[in-house]
Amino acid sequence: MVLATFVGAIIGSYIGVLVLRWPSGEPTVGGRSRCDSCQRQLAWYDLLPLLSYLFLRGRCRYCKAAIDPVQAIAEWVGAILCGLAFYHLPLEIAAACALLFLLLLPLALLDARYLWLPDRLVIALALCGLLLGGLTSGGAELIMRLFAAAFAFALLEGLRRLFRAVRHKEGMGAGDPKLFAALALWLSPYDLPLLILIASTLGIAFALFLTFRKQSMQQLPFGSLLAAATVILVFVRL
Ligand SMILES: [Zn+2]
Repeated sequence: MVLATFVGAIIGSYIGVLVLRWPSGEPTVGGRSRCDSCQRQLAWYDLLPLLSYLFLRGRCRYCKAAIDPVQAIAEWVGAILCGLAFYHLPLEIAAACALLFLLLLPLALLDARYLWLPDRLVIALALCGLLLGGLTSGGAELIMRLFAAAFAFALLEGLRRLFRAVRHKEGMGAGDPKLFAALALWLSPYDLPLLILIASTLGIAFALFLTFRKQSMQQLPFGSLLAAATVILVFVRL
């Protein structure tokens, strides 16, 4: 479990880099990390997963500019979810869940920030779901799950188009139905309505919170909500 937490933090660290660099087309491997503000190259002790952000109190050591918290969030969430999975679940199921969570983490962060669910990540999630999904869903029939995925996609895609036709604006991103279909390969078909219910509840809670704070948002990141709902569902079910 300690090892899983550590590995989760390391992979979370890479996910943080991915989320920060991918949208602008920068290479995500290699290249030393620099402060975005003063361009000074960061030393290894500025880049320690989990700890550096806390020690530096979220500011650059040299110029005191605020550091993007996404990096630290990715590290902490990656570490906690991997640690919890291996603490709670039998080994092979924990490994499958950890993979599921680590694939969902960049999707959730990218959707929350850019309302963007990259197809390549969703396809990776779907392929891993085909191979390993049985472990996280108690081994439902594969054929049934493929049908469920097709139905899940058709349902959300239909709703998305209906909303757009009626309201003349986007209510849901184009990636959300694909993500839901990929998740249908990981989960039991019977759990899918519950997944939507949890995601919607989280969405309503989040929207209320924003209203309460007198903030507004163009569009809720439904992909992030689905990802969070999946984590909750996995821990409730397994
Ligand atoms: Zn700086």
